[in-house]
Amino acid sequence: MSTIKRRKSVLLVALGGNALIRKGQEGTIEQQFENLKLPIQQIARLSQDYSIIITHGNAPQVGNLLLQQECCDTVPRLPLEILVAQTEGHIGYMIESTLDQELMALGIDFRPLVTLITYVVVDKDDPAFDNPTKPIGPTYTAEEAAKLNYPTIKTAKGYRRVVASPMPVTIIEKREIKKLIEMDFIVICCGGGGIPVIREGRAFSGVDAVVDKDFASATLAKEVGVDIFVIATDVEGAMLNFGTEKQTLLRKLTLKEAVAYAKGGHFGTGSMLPKVEAAVQFIKQGGKRAIITSIENIEMAVKGKVGTEFIKDA
Ligand code: ADP
Ligand code: MG
Repeated sequence: MSTIKRRKSVLLVALGGNALIRKGQEGTIEQQFENLKLPIQQIARLSQDYSIIITHGNAPQVGNLLLQQECCDTVPRLPLEILVAQTEGHIGYMIESTLDQELMALGIDFRPLVTLITYVVVDKDDPAFDNPTKPIGPTYTAEEAAKLNYPTIKTAKGYRRVVASPMPVTIIEKREIKKLIEMDFIVICCGGGGIPVIREGRAFSGVDAVVDKDFASATLAKEVGVDIFVIATDVEGAMLNFGTEKQTLLRKLTLKEAVAYAKGGHFGTGSMLPKVEAAVQFIKQGGKRAIITSIENIEMAVKGKVGTEFIKDA
């Protein structure tokens, strides 16, 4: 009698950049490795039952690299797309080596892992290019900012460089990622939202922009057929009246409710809003489950016990 091997469900975990550098930390390499253990131990255990894709943010790391560019005049400065590529290597290596150790601690020493440098196509006509909104890198005084050869905006902390945050159109390596998943690889990809590229004829060229890793993850999820999408960050989930005494965690919300609360301004632009929008997009495009949770609670969220879970409208 032949046995039919059932396909494992595909779980995509999107780790916030703060999974490596917690708010208020200096961000040494020792701290980054230490912070990674908690989410990665959970992912190692989950990998026994699920096919796994890990995506990750890079905000604190790319911010530090930008600062290093500003600190040094003796070597040429690098464009943003190269810095994003560097963080894909840096964070991919840290996740991969931590995961390798955690898998071995569970007695699993045969599961293949791979980190993929990932390009994400954006539209050169995306309106985001006319209206850059994403502040990145170090802060400057008004006088310093005036001397820079790129646009800046005034933020609560001071003037910062501002770049476009266009929407992802497609992930270039989608076929490779799908194949690797079918071969039971754990794939680490779309780091920092991926390296943004635009199509020029048959070629691609990098652009000075950053793609939100939550949107890049939702696009990848559709293209490779993810079943469960977990967005792991530094809060318990999406909340109403966030930051006030009335703040309450949303445990379950329908897509209609999510859209209404988003319109009501409950979710921070550039922080919680893209997570909610990415989760809504994922369920709309046919994904089974989407949950926003804290990096401490990834396993519990997959079990349906914590976090904010998005459900289809009746
Ligand atoms: P990540 O690096 O995981 O993408 P972000 O800083 O981009 O993290 O997003 C998480 C942050 O979103 C939280 O730390 C919180 O300060 C902020 N936030 C804004 N609005 C809300 C909300 N309604 N509920 C919960 N968190 C919110
Ligand atoms: Mg974010």
